[in-house]
Amino acid sequence: RHKEKWASTAPRIASTRLALHHFDTSYSLRLGALWPSVRAGLLCEQKYGALLNNFAAADHVPQELEPLNAADFVSEASQKAQQWQRGAAVGAVARGCQEGSGEGRTVMQAEMMAQAEMMAQAEMSPPLGASISSKIKCYTFPRGDITRFRPARPDSLGLLDYYLMDAASLLPVLALNVQPGDFVLDLCAAPGGKTLALLQTGFCGHLAANDISISRTKRLYQILHSYVPREVRDTVSVTSYDGRDWDQVKGGTFHKGAGAGSVLLQVLVDVPCTTDRHSATEEDNNIFHKRRTKERQMLPMLQLQLLMAGILAAKPGAEVVYSTCSLSPLQNECVVERALDIAEAQFNISIHVEDLSHFRTLFQETFSFFSDCRLGELVLPHLTANFGPMYFCKLRRM
Ligand code: SAM
Repeated sequence: RHKEKWASTAPRIASTRLALHHFDTSYSLRLGALWPSVRAGLLCEQKYGALLNNFAAADHVPQELEPLNAADFVSEASQKAQQWQRGAAVGAVARGCQEGSGEGRTVMQAEMMAQAEMMAQAEMSPPLGASISSKIKCYTFPRGDITRFRPARPDSLGLLDYYLMDAASLLPVLALNVQPGDFVLDLCAAPGGKTLALLQTGFCGHLAANDISISRTKRLYQILHSYVPREVRDTVSVTSYDGRDWDQVKGGTFHKGAGAGSVLLQVLVDVPCTTDRHSATEEDNNIFHKRRTKERQMLPMLQLQLLMAGILAAKPGAEVVYSTCSLSPLQNECVVERALDIAEAQFNISIHVEDLSHFRTLFQETFSFFSDCRLGELVLPHLTANFGPMYFCKLRRM
């Protein structure tokens, strides 16, 4: 009988095409009228940010970049947050004056009232804790400016002056808001962009950087060697465990180390995901390859298990930031919602989802945010601000 040869001869559909087909179906539902512009962003060259290396002699970098119109978006946001706080304080005093003095208002009180009103009109009421760690510095070119950064250069000790990364990747690190002496766990750390950013805060008492992939962990070591002096590297422990088993293999020792009262264990869970920008543009290592269908379908389960491991590693009062570089609600909010349920039902752990909506206001000049996330925040690629996608959600273990 004549045998059909379909399987071997049918042309293989490119993984990028499969990815785009999948995105067109699911993201157009989710993002509606925004999807065509997000799609265009995904398919065009992404923008980078230059994370300044505080450990290198890098004073020349601002002098070089500022005349080119690049600006440190973190310090800009930090200044904005400070203005907010001042505005709120002025508003409170002014309201007090209004209540207290009735008709006999002084010129100064009237000015205060005017300023407070201006803040209210601009919807600038600062949420609690709306401060931004100012030690991280990251330069970006303005909206619509697609100038590229030159490659990083070494200083006299061989440390590179900046690290080029998707600037939106800094948002999960800024959301974690590491405080001096904190013990930090970066559960899926390689190749190490966020690990490096965590170290730039200068606040990590100890940093555990873990990643299951030995080859990607090598890249993490390279980054540490190229950017971080030995004495700081000594505060970092790099491991290659399956993050899902963290509690069994490391939980006990880490908790003992982190148990000195004031030091907290902050956890970053930057999970493997469909890496939407990569999947839409690169055939190499594409998770939409037919061979990887099962692995792709299992991603939300793996993400949930990793987030649960992060939650269990966190001490009461500690914070966990969950992040992905996907637009998929199944990998973002749904994973977080499921983790909240399991933490409560199976482990009796209550979790508070922190409000990060102030990030949208503080960083709106640099990034395009999606305004409709049920939980957490999402940076959308856009032709004029082509960063992301980046989803991040901050949880506090009660
Ligand atoms: N945080 C990294 C950075 O900023 O450079 C990127 C992390 S990447 C999105 C996800 C990482 O998770 C990959 O390096 C992958 O090897 C790692 N990974 C996958 N499964 C894991 C597991 N079960 N345990 C720990 N790491 C895992």
